[in-house]
This record gives sequence, structure tokens and C-alpha cells, in this order.
Amino acid sequence: MNKVKVVVAGPRGRMGQEAVKMVEIAEEYELVAVIDHKHDGKMLSDLDGFANFAVPIFSDIAQCFQSTKPDVLIDLTTPETGMYHTTTALTYGVRPVVGTTGFTKENLHELEELCKEKELGCIIAPNFAVGAVLMMKFSQMAAKYFQDVEILELHHDQKLDAPSGTAVKTAEMIAEVRQTKEQGHPQEKETMTGARGANYDGMHIHSVRLPGLIAHQQVMFGSDGQTLTIRHDSFNRASFMSGVKLAVDTVMKLDTFVYGLENIME
Ligand code: NAP
Repeated sequence: MNKVKVVVAGPRGRMGQEAVKMVEIAEEYELVAVIDHKHDGKMLSDLDGFANFAVPIFSDIAQCFQSTKPDVLIDLTTPETGMYHTTTALTYGVRPVVGTTGFTKENLHELEELCKEKELGCIIAPNFAVGAVLMMKFSQMAAKYFQDVEILELHHDQKLDAPSGTAVKTAEMIAEVRQTKEQGHPQEKETMTGARGANYDGMHIHSVRLPGLIAHQQVMFGSDGQTLTIRHDSFNRASFMSGVKLAVDTVMKLDTFVYGLENIME
């Protein structure tokens, strides 16, 4: 069996650590290198907590691709770095699986065009937890019947982007079926800036950041005399890895750009 050769970018990060473990455990994959802006030239096994991972560390992604010729890049870094890594991967014929959040619409459009040009698969998912994808799908179903919705996303306080990629994606999916409506009282005024959260097509998104949280989202619908709440909680980062694995398997068969895990789930 030809193993899928994988590079993980951001291996010391909370998500990256789980991805390294997932790749190592999966018999059909081979971890060939990691990309880390620190520790260039060392082995991953030299770093604390990675004693069993004897693969080289590169800080230069192009050099990494030239030396190790991987099939797939898993990127779990920061938005700017993730964008640079993803475009470089496509340029080198490496299929990206991207969990990094915070990409702009323009970034996504640029990557979609690059995939077309290179005829390569690329999967970007703001949330790799299968339960979160179901939460988004159920919210889209509910939005056909409830026009009024507030999205509350709750994350750990080290998260860089707000609102979360999942909240934005949920709002986009809801907007596909919901009639545009500016929610709340027409004369509503914020007496403190930001009190009503972000506004997407008239629905509001609220971001909570607290230590102790991982990744959680609650979508609340209201209509006359009733409310409906759909909630998903990720209690650890391993919860994302079955989705990352599904994406690695799928991206090897793709020659197009896919945004959102829901588009590769049966
Ligand atoms: P994290 O713990 O801060 O890890 C990010 C890692 O990226 C750090 O180790 C950081 O290194 C490294 N990094 C930064 N710049 C780099 C560069 N130029 N080259 C290589 N590595 C670089 O963050 P996290 O919680 O793992 O999250 C990572 C990303 O995944 C975030 O965008 C987050 O929002 C997203 N996320 C996605 C999902 C999903 O399901 N899609 C779930 C959770 C999180 P330093 O520490 O040295 O800066």
C-alpha cells in the first residue's frame, strides 16, 4: 500500500499536536516532516513531548516540499501563515487540508482560482468536528421556519479571530434559506458599542472568550411563544481529528476546492 505522505504545519500548537498524533497512528499515512517557524533543522523528536516522532523540522515550506515531496499539507497555524502555506502547497502540487481559521472571502476566492488552475484538491474547514457540522446543518433546516436567530460562539481566550469561522459559516448557511431581516427593534440603539454583536444579513453574532473553554456554539431561534436552541460543544481537540482524517482521505481524490466539512460528509 502506498502511504499518503503528510506534512503538518504548526505541530507545537494545540491542534497541530493532535494532528501529528493522528497522522502517526493512521497506518495509511506517513508523517514525512513538520513546518515550524522555530527549530529549523532539528528533528521533531528533539522537542519536548514528541520523543517518538523522528521527522525533520523545516521553517522554509518550499524547501520542505522540495526535500520531502509530500501528498498533503495539514495546516493549523495562523491566518496569514496559513494563507501563505496553502498557496505554496498548491504551487508545489501538494494538496492542502486547512483547519486554520480567519481566511477572508478574497483569500478563499484566490485559493479556489489557484485550485482550478492547478487542477488540485484543497479542503478548508473552519470546523472539523462532525457534531459541529451537524449543528450547522440543523440550524440551516430550522432557519426555514424561524427567521429570527442569534448565534453565540464561545472559545478559549487564546483564539485570534472573532467571530469564529464556524459562526460565520453558520450565518452564511442560514442566509441561504432565511429571508433577509434586520432583527430587533427598528429603533434599537447600542448604549455600549458592540452590545448587539456583529451583524450578518440582519442576524447577530456574539463572541465569548474565556479560559477553560475549547470550542462551543449555540444557535438560538425565536418566534411567537417559542424558542429553539441548537448547541454543540468540543471538549478537547481530538474531537476535530476524525474530520481532519476524512478530509485527508477525500482531498487525495479531489481536483477542486472545497470549503466546509459538510460538503464532503455523506
Ligand atoms: P495554537 O495553539 O496557537 O497553534 C498555532 C501554531 O502555529 C503555534 O504552534 C505557532 O507557533 C504556529 N505558527 C505560527 N506561525 C507559524 C509559522 N510561520 N510557521 C509554522 N508554524 C507557525 O492554535 P490552535 O488552537 O492549535 O489553532 C490553530 C488554528 O486552527 C487556528 O487558526 C484556530 O482557529 C484553528 N482551529 C481550527 C479548528 C477546526 O476544526 N478547523 C479547530 C480548532 C482550532 P508559535 O507558538 O511559536 O507562535
